Amino acid sequence: MTEGRITLDELKSWLREFAQLVTDHRDELTTLDAAIGDADHGTNMERGMSAVIAGLSGDTVGELCRQAGMTLVSTVGGASGPLYGTFLLRFGSSAGDVAELDATGFAAAMRAGLDGIVARGKAEREDKTMYDALAPAVEALEAGKGDPLGVALRTAAEAADKGRDATIEMLARKGRASYLGERSIGHQDPGATSAALLVRAAATTLA
Ligand code: ADP
Ligand code: MG
Repeated sequence: MTEGRITLDELKSWLREFAQLVTDHRDELTTLDAAIGDADHGTNMERGMSAVIAGLSGDTVGELCRQAGMTLVSTVGGASGPLYGTFLLRFGSSAGDVAELDATGFAAAMRAGLDGIVARGKAEREDKTMYDALAPAVEALEAGKGDPLGVALRTAAEAADKGRDATIEMLARKGRASYLGERSIGHQDPGATSAALLVRAAATTLA
């Protein structure tokens, strides 16, 4: 990724677009969670992202994302709140107190956010979690060095969708779905589904 800069306003648009997609897909996320969890992922994410959007603030990328992350941690009771909250907190710390990010800084911040999810939830590849959609997206961004930002983001969104779809055949090893053991197979993971929306929102707002 050699060209393209991402401004603070564009990052705010990213979070707004993610909130909109979460609302548009709320019932789908909840239905997926009803099959292998406790039927609250859509409402959890909508509550959290609505609070984030209502309180968007900060003059730097770091401040914006740390504020948003703390809001998610404090407004969402389920596992996803602290996990997405940690993602944003680490994203903000990696970005730092800058007014804009270049594509390399964005990829590094995404990697830091993903590392935060792993530090918090200990997910590994194919545990059937949000990690399985987000990790391929981060890898695509890192591999897209030299591509225009828009191309790298679209490739990342496709990688996230593929990762989300691949969770269907996985046996859950983390979170509530893991209580089901073999019966978790055949169902798409709700958190991987929302994570793919996060990456799709980036592709439509940051390119
Ligand atoms: P809860 O499971 O507490 O009801 P949600 O329903 O909001 O919370 O979120 C469930 C999603 O959280 C799962 O679909 C999965 O993707 C994700 N998740 C759960 N535990 C972990 C973990 N340890 N690491 C990464 N993601 C996880
Ligand atoms: Mg749930």
